[in-house]
Amino acid sequence: MAIEKVGIVGAGQMGNGIAHVFALAGYDVLMTDISAEALDAAVALIDRNLERQVGKDLISADDKAAALGRIATTQTLTDLGPTDLIIEAATERETVKQAIFEDLVPHLKPETILTSNTSSISITRLASRTDRPEKFMGFHFMNPVPIMQLVELIRGIATDEATFKACHGVVERLGKTSATAEDFPAFIVNRILMPMINEAIYTLYEGVGSVKSIDTSLKLGANHPMGPLELADFIGLDTCLAIMNVLHDGLADTKYRPCPLLTKYVEAGWLGRKTKRGFYDYRGEEPVPTR
Ligand code: NAD
Repeated sequence: MAIEKVGIVGAGQMGNGIAHVFALAGYDVLMTDISAEALDAAVALIDRNLERQVGKDLISADDKAAALGRIATTQTLTDLGPTDLIIEAATERETVKQAIFEDLVPHLKPETILTSNTSSISITRLASRTDRPEKFMGFHFMNPVPIMQLVELIRGIATDEATFKACHGVVERLGKTSATAEDFPAFIVNRILMPMINEAIYTLYEGVGSVKSIDTSLKLGANHPMGPLELADFIGLDTCLAIMNVLHDGLADTKYRPCPLLTKYVEAGWLGRKTKRGFYDYRGEEPVPTR
């Protein structure tokens, strides 16, 4: 089946980036969110990010205008019914995602492919609650989507080959590279990355180092482009905690227990860059460590 119209659920950090790359690759995009502000902010951000690409001569002004022209928004989830491919990129909470698929399914065409951008939740379990587990996959983009090259493709136990091939083809049309992961908690990237971030938070919690010394150590000592605490703020501390909980529950191993300090930051509503405070305070000109 040819994929031309793409529905994106959730216009947060990931949803806006996904809309950006699909529109630039020539797909018609319909993006939905429960929050009108999130939709407006997403379109404004896509405009700014496309403009930056024009400024760097990566795309032309015409490409930008055409891409923006291909993006429409709606607050009504069921408007996404006539699309060929759905990418769910709403908040990392299983009940939220389940409710979205439940509401959406009766309005879809039989051939529409359903995917989730979840960082960690079982694709097989999400799929089992829809009417089309064979047409359901994990489609895991990295943040920031317009810059990061990788897309993880995750088959649920029932995903059929045609669905996998269709999603693989989409990744190629986007000019990105896919890696295939089996459907186990947090897949590949976050199975490895998130315990490292959690360990960095334990290192802070136990007083081994300050925010600055931990980030400097990994940047200059391991050649990481960002320190782990800076990266946690960038991902969102609520998302980091949700992923650690999925690893802890799904693999039943105490080595994945979320650091209590991570929980405390989330309880405070200090979720990182998106709320302007996390391991760093972003309210001033320069980020200032909060510990
Ligand atoms: P975010 O908090 O920036 O955005 C989530 C958006 O979902 C919000 O705008 C919220 O209003 C919207 N939303 C919540 N419930 C909804 C509903 N019922 N219907 C429609 N919209 C709804 O989160 P994010 O960082 O964009 O993460 C989204 C998904 O992408 C999560 O599953 C996350 O695990 C995954 N992901 C995140 C990253 C990352 O680095 N942040 C990377 C890869 C994948």
